[in-house]
Amino acid sequence: MTGVLLTEQELLLQQTVRDFAERELAPRAAELDERDEADWGYFRRFADLGLLGITVPPELGGNGLGFRAVAIAVEEIARADPGTSTNFISHLSLSTYAINQFASQALRARLVPPLARGEKIAAFALTEPGSGSDAAALATTARKTKGGYILNGSKIFITNASVADYIVTFVTQDKALGHRGILALVVEKGTKGLRTQKMHGKMGMRSSDTAEVYLEDVFVPEGNRMGEEGQGFRIAMETLNSSRISIASQCVGIAQAAYEAALKYTQERRAFGGPIAQLQAVQHMLADMATETEASRLLVWKAATLKDGGLPFVKEASMAKLFASETAVRVADKAVQLHGGYGYFKPSVVERLYRDAKVTTIYEGTSQVQRLVIARQVLQSG
Ligand SMILES: Cc1cc2nc3c(=O)[nH]c(=O)nc-3n(C[C@H](O)[C@H](O)[C@H](O)COP(=O)(O)OP(=O)(O)OC[C@H]3O[C@@H](n4cnc5c(N)ncnc54)[C@H](O)[C@@H]3O)c2cc1C
Repeated sequence: MTGVLLTEQELLLQQTVRDFAERELAPRAAELDERDEADWGYFRRFADLGLLGITVPPELGGNGLGFRAVAIAVEEIARADPGTSTNFISHLSLSTYAINQFASQALRARLVPPLARGEKIAAFALTEPGSGSDAAALATTARKTKGGYILNGSKIFITNASVADYIVTFVTQDKALGHRGILALVVEKGTKGLRTQKMHGKMGMRSSDTAEVYLEDVFVPEGNRMGEEGQGFRIAMETLNSSRISIASQCVGIAQAAYEAALKYTQERRAFGGPIAQLQAVQHMLADMATETEASRLLVWKAATLKDGGLPFVKEASMAKLFASETAVRVADKAVQLHGGYGYFKPSVVERLYRDAKVTTIYEGTSQVQRLVIARQVLQSG
């Protein structure tokens, strides 16, 4: 199936990432989940495979591919370890992508090559304690001063932030201006007044890093601004529109892993004189899981193909994110069900996937927000 829809080069990428993920990520996923810890050594391995430069142009050390390649890589990483794929997405398709697209030539030339080499790690800080879906209501301030800006405020739930060398940060210069008052800047690790605090206690995605970011009279030079003053909100939204393709492919990876585990288990587990896979009610569940996972994958590839072709893709990216995230939750739920009591206990992989899946309907725009985006698009085109 995939061979018909992917090029030779894409099939090679898929196989390469799958081999790596099965060999190096999958065996450690349960341990990292248990320890509630990310493995930052993976970033060098991702870089060795060229994965951190997928969307980076060759002149900045990348391989200049597009979101089809991102989607293929993310699905395979998520199939092996969803939490690690969250760190990967935050670094690549949120932060590196935003810096490469919207920073000045000088800033891109300085920051992007070490990000593509995995020597530096990036985070994307939009959400605040008082604003998530309503991102334009953010309250962290930027006051203009000689040669730059002074930042004050805090961010919450920021992936990679506890170790990030560069934090793409959204702040307001004037709350009365709403989204037109927002500014995007890169805050660098070690800057006086910047502090991060790792957050513990996540339900799932525990091999991903999540942290709070505190900014107390942090000076950021003007050269670290992305775009013009007032363009920060547009930068955040355009980045999120693209990155939703990555989250959707993460969901496909989770659903695929849960489906595969259920397929294997139902052929081994016996009840009433035979494998439970022979029971029609079980077969119908497997059929739904396979169908919805494949439909999600096709939505992802469609959105990615449109994006790479320079065509409108926002509606399709939101459709992919909405459908794939809700599919991941449904498929993981069915996989637990099909494992019976064993599915409710560690070290069952489906117990972890069930917890990992849930956040995908929340971050990078909740399911409710995706429906708003899709409705706006269909009403406009109608
Ligand atoms: C593990 C994790 C990692 C994250 N990583 C990052 C990151 O790297 N960077 C970052 O900036 N953020 C990150 N986030 C934050 C995430 O993007 C937000 O949690 C998400 O956008 C929702 O915002 P909120 O939590 O403030 O919920 P709220 O916006 O308060 O929403 C609460 C509920 O109200 C609903 N709601 C809100 N508005 C509407 C509406 N108009 N119509 C219908 N329903 C509505 C929502 O759908 C939701 O059900 C992360 C979150 C988690 C859990």
